[in-house]
Amino acid sequence: MAVLPITKYGTPVLRKKLADVTVFDDNLKKIVDDMFETMYEVRGIGLAANQVGLDQRIIVLDGSAHYEGCEKIALVNPDIIEMKGEEWMVEGCLSIPGLEGDVARTTEIIVKAQDLDGKDVLIQATDMQARIFQHECDHINGKMYVDRVTPSARTLMESKLKKLQKQTEQSL
Ligand SMILES: [Zn+2]
Repeated sequence: MAVLPITKYGTPVLRKKLADVTVFDDNLKKIVDDMFETMYEVRGIGLAANQVGLDQRIIVLDGSAHYEGCEKIALVNPDIIEMKGEEWMVEGCLSIPGLEGDVARTTEIIVKAQDLDGKDVLIQATDMQARIFQHECDHINGKMYVDRVTPSARTLMESKLKKLQKQTEQSL
């Protein structure tokens, strides 16, 4: 397993709708292992493939150390097919260090996805687990939580975001 570098705000792949995974082989399992390893290394609770630079619809989650009902799971080609309820809560993102903001998410969801063998799965999630799913499913569609904060919160973030984007572009 390997810890991979995390892409930061301003990296083009973070704004891309990622490609469907069509091959379910050992390489996919290795990518998922590396994603978990990377996420644990930086004490994250969720990670999307474009956060390690990959253009593939893969997400990993494990909030079990902090939240009830947030067990470890990896999903391929996930799609949220049902959403219910709403709750505002503060979020941060490994790709946007040093910032956080309140985001409204639905509290009950159903996710349609595939497992690492390509088998169809339906996952029901609530509360924090549902929030992590929504955050990561946003990522694989090129969306980030800063797109969902209120306009006034976004205005307050804007200079830090611009600075981070510039830093990232200079390092690419
Ligand atoms: Zn994120």
